[in-house]
Amino acid sequence: MNLSNLPAPTFDFQIKFLKYIQWLLESGSYTSTYKFALLMSLVNVAIESEAYGNSTLFISYEALAEQFIKLYWDQALPYIHDQDANSDSLGILYQNLGSQAIVITSISALQSKQANINKAKMNHANDWTKMRKTIAQTIHKNPAKFLQSPENVERTFLYHYDEKNKNGITLNCGIAYCLAHFSNIIFKLCQQYWTEFVRNNKRNQHLFNQNTDLQGFLFKQSRQNLASLVPMLIDIQDCKCFYCAKPLKKDMEVDHFIPWSKYPNDTAHNFVLADRGCNNAKRDYLADIPFYERWQFRNQTYHQDITSFAIEKGFTAHLATSEKIGKWAYNLAKENQDLVWQPPKNFKVIETTLDVF
Ligand SMILES: [Zn+2]
Repeated sequence: MNLSNLPAPTFDFQIKFLKYIQWLLESGSYTSTYKFALLMSLVNVAIESEAYGNSTLFISYEALAEQFIKLYWDQALPYIHDQDANSDSLGILYQNLGSQAIVITSISALQSKQANINKAKMNHANDWTKMRKTIAQTIHKNPAKFLQSPENVERTFLYHYDEKNKNGITLNCGIAYCLAHFSNIIFKLCQQYWTEFVRNNKRNQHLFNQNTDLQGFLFKQSRQNLASLVPMLIDIQDCKCFYCAKPLKKDMEVDHFIPWSKYPNDTAHNFVLADRGCNNAKRDYLADIPFYERWQFRNQTYHQDITSFAIEKGFTAHLATSEKIGKWAYNLAKENQDLVWQPPKNFKVIETTLDVF
């Protein structure tokens, strides 16, 4: 269904939404990081659902569980602080106040068979399904229930929680739109609160020293080796920089076309190869419209090559999802009249005659 033509929620509603998110994050004592994971997962699903208009959106617990797995996968690996790791400074971070969170123990169990998330999903499909089911049940019983009702006072602004419905939740009219439009603010706040929670958890503190970059460990770009994609990207880009088209030399770098800061997205179609100059100059900006068109064209042309190569290297590849994320990012930039970048170092306000990307 194309929701692009539906009207947006009113500005009053959008402000009410922001106030509510602020209240959610500040309110109640919480005993795990699930609340933040749930909010971030709702944002991701809203973006990938093209929820542009003022409509409701059903989200299954299984879909939320997939997002939880992505968020927690690297966090479930042993935490090693800085360079001076020794046996005392190795451990899996506690994500709640009691015994370890179920999400972490479920993920750890599968990680012991396969450390790469995408290979685990592909090669251990039964274990994956089982893990996802356990996590979906946990979301149903825990954060979905308590997110809006920390003191057992029922609130229903985001969705009406129904304990008997084990399939999922339906976001109220306009909520998915707001989640997708205020994603940056929600991501950044959740990451900060999440980091504080893990840092303040007494059971983790022996792992930290003054220089610990905990937020970096929890949320930095995934630890997958981007360099393994270089041969494929050289091939399909004819060994030229994606942006300035100059021949690539040694200083080539893999760039997230839709920046990681806008959407933490490691799907293969998002990667392009650029020289260091272009990569550094672009930073966290979107590239100008002609590059967006070039990126779409490249992905459609080389869809098969990108997918098969990347999957073999342990990446995820899903063209339709990448396209939705691209569309969302450029639509948002257009609404906000963001700056976009073009080589070598020019920024300008985004300009396009297209209504919908
Ligand atoms: Zn370049």
